Amino acid sequence: MASKKKILIVGGVAGGASAAARLRRLDEFANITLIERGRDVSFANCGLPYHIGGEITDRSKLAVQTPESLERQLAIKVKTNTEATAIHRKDKLLEVRDSSGKTERLAYDKLILSPGAQPLKPELPGIDLPGIYTLRNLQDMDRIKAAAEKAQQILVIGAGFIGLEMAEQLIQVGKQVRLVELADQVLPQLDPEMTKPVEQELIRKGVELILSDGIKGFAPRQNGTGILAELNSGKELEGDLVLLSIGVRPESGLAKSAGLELGARGHIKTNAHMQTSDPDIYAAGDACENLDPILDGPSAIPLGGPANRQGRCAADHIILGEQAQPYPGSIGTAIVRVFDVAAGITGHSEKRLKQLGVEYKKTAVNGFNHAGYFPGATNLTVKILWEPATGRLLGGQVNGHDGVDKRLDILATAIKGKLTIEDLAQLELAYAPPFGAARDPINTAGFSAMNIRNGLYQPAFGLSGSDDTQLLDVRPAEVAKLKPIPDSINIPYPELRSRLDELEKSKPLTTVCTMGKTSYFASRILKQYGYNAQSHVGGWTVAAPIQRSENNNPSTKSAEEASVVAGDDTVVKLDATGLACPGPIMRVREASLNLSDGEILEVKASDAGFLTDFPAFCNATGYECLGVTSEKGIITGSLRKNRDSGAQQSLSPATVDSNGTTIVVFSGELDKAMAAFVIANGALAMGGKATLFFTFWGLNVLRKNPSPTVKGKTFMDKLFGWMLPKGPGKLPLSNMHMAGMGTTMMKGRMASKNLPNLPDLMESAIKGGTRLVACTMSMEAMGIRREELIDGVELGGVAEFLGAASKTGTNLFI
Ligand code: FAD
Repeated sequence: MASKKKILIVGGVAGGASAAARLRRLDEFANITLIERGRDVSFANCGLPYHIGGEITDRSKLAVQTPESLERQLAIKVKTNTEATAIHRKDKLLEVRDSSGKTERLAYDKLILSPGAQPLKPELPGIDLPGIYTLRNLQDMDRIKAAAEKAQQILVIGAGFIGLEMAEQLIQVGKQVRLVELADQVLPQLDPEMTKPVEQELIRKGVELILSDGIKGFAPRQNGTGILAELNSGKELEGDLVLLSIGVRPESGLAKSAGLELGARGHIKTNAHMQTSDPDIYAAGDACENLDPILDGPSAIPLGGPANRQGRCAADHIILGEQAQPYPGSIGTAIVRVFDVAAGITGHSEKRLKQLGVEYKKTAVNGFNHAGYFPGATNLTVKILWEPATGRLLGGQVNGHDGVDKRLDILATAIKGKLTIEDLAQLELAYAPPFGAARDPINTAGFSAMNIRNGLYQPAFGLSGSDDTQLLDVRPAEVAKLKPIPDSINIPYPELRSRLDELEKSKPLTTVCTMGKTSYFASRILKQYGYNAQSHVGGWTVAAPIQRSENNNPSTKSAEEASVVAGDDTVVKLDATGLACPGPIMRVREASLNLSDGEILEVKASDAGFLTDFPAFCNATGYECLGVTSEKGIITGSLRKNRDSGAQQSLSPATVDSNGTTIVVFSGELDKAMAAFVIANGALAMGGKATLFFTFWGLNVLRKNPSPTVKGKTFMDKLFGWMLPKGPGKLPLSNMHMAGMGTTMMKGRMASKNLPNLPDLMESAIKGGTRLVACTMSMEAMGIRREELIDGVELGGVAEFLGAASKTGTNLFI
């Protein structure tokens, strides 16, 4: 029979409860007592946000064990509502106090501390006001749930993992959520470019996201209920309740008072068997510090997995001694779901490696969660960091809609196994079309890293065309027009070999595409022709700025509404998932041409831009947009070819606006431009619509003066820019220009007779709703960039002009 060891455990949740269970399985006769300050033991802290949001409906499921079940099943004595207040190490006694204030001293042979970490509550004015909550246990959860039910506006402070989960859950129960974060990104544990899809998703789902701003203090709201939060910027936000989720602090006060050694951030130091500086006292979970197995430094990771395994390791060492497996350290693998997007990290981020001064290399790749040709393929982005000398992985991050957890777990396993980028490239992963691809994004990340390592691929991580660098956009021309990359020249990849002479060989250039793959292919061509070419890593998918407002077409309907509208009409289904822009819209175009009157086309796509491209396509072509929705990264759009709309391959004849006018403004001369705007204003006055389509010299009317500095222009582009007039103030007269004298005289005469001048005419036309469309082809020819044109100008091609012209009674060429 074993020795009847007296083992005390402080903290009865993740680390403490696992230690208790493991101890019992190893030693049936040990005397085990669990001391827990709160009411509950072994509950699922990680599930708390999901009960508040109603996704976990049954509260009792969160209580994994109860004091009674632990006593019954494991013969463990459980003292809840009891706080450990002091450790008398010399006498091996733990002092405890129960909720009635009664104290007692309990003897131990071994003591395990798993007291966890407390939510941070900085000393700010008003921090203790009622209505400000933190979330750690079931009672916090009940309080927040009750308060949230009555609240409308909720402020969530801190956009880490818990803050994001809470924001998601509160939106799902119909609350207005403002999420405030001090850092300039959400999930500050990750690198900023990897959090953009999360930020976009939060905005899309209606969370008001306030970044780079912190809390200065709180005050009661004037109306007596709720809170007024003042931010560092001076901004004031009102909320019916506030949830603070700005991080945690280890509960190491008891250990500190007992003289146990603490780490730099106040965690209890432990060795590989979870022993503290006192070998009879062990520590586990959020309160302890252990080893970072990647860089061999200290590591304190407040996560459920490490806490559970550390508790188990401590128990093993108490019972098995040196035969016990040591704890190998924590690498920090974490993931979060934010509506339809997931993001996570394992190992070190780039930010962290920089802070630590550790040398690293990095890449990021885009791929699909499973074979692109299998329905439902959605995009994933994988970033990896590695040690330059050995290729050993130092960290990884993944975001996407589906399959993020799988890739993150592969990377976590690879890091723990000290695998290299070469190993990643050769990992043999499960593949059948519904599950993966013959070349998984993890393999691709390995290939990309190896190409960088072997010098085949010179990576560029920023997108800045400048006077010294050319930025070459190799996406299809349609995509470049729809989603222009500032300061870039567009030469679609298939045309590159035949258009090399448009690029300056003496200047370095960076290729860029949508996903980061075609730009690599382009850079390989260019390098072999002697260009100094780098390829942008991750492509426009990673680099595109966040759209602050998701301007979904208000005419669109939800999926359910759309299916009601569909009624008995025939629905033709089209799967365009796995295709990058403009693939989906081109497939829609092809399929819609074959629709019969009344038939409905339902399209699924995974390209994020499809959400706005689809209604725009319907508007431009005259098909009735029945709805566009997005769920788990799949965008579903439905359109109908109406019996009477005549929608087809060309633009819809729809209804012709007899008072409306469409004018091609070809001329860049003052009097002709004025004539165009006089007619436009006239059309507006008659209750019609006006569209002015500016092409060639007409573009000069729309130029800003002075022009902004535009990087990446060729010499010829700049020459055109210098020679051509900038804006209405610089336009010459068509006749009697007389080196400017005629123009000045004409302007003077018009002013003296109180006639409007061109800028005034332009202003009133714009205010009245005239559409100014700049011809993209002419802009390309004349080297004019979007940022050189006045605000509010739309870019368009001939289809735009024809579309507008088909709907107006008057069509002119000036
Ligand atoms: P805890 O589980 O916090 O347990 C410590 C216990 O000790 C507490 O109940 C406390 O009352 C008690 N205690 C403290 N001091 C004393 C004392 N002096 N005397 C007696 N008792 C004392 N991690 C993940 O990996 N994934 C997730 O999705 C995730 N989601 C989370 C969501 C929420 C809302 C929260 C709060 C945490 C989440 N975590 C998550 C973190 C995870 O829950 C913790 O890392 C883990 O619970 C830590 O275990 P622990 O044993 O160290 O501390």
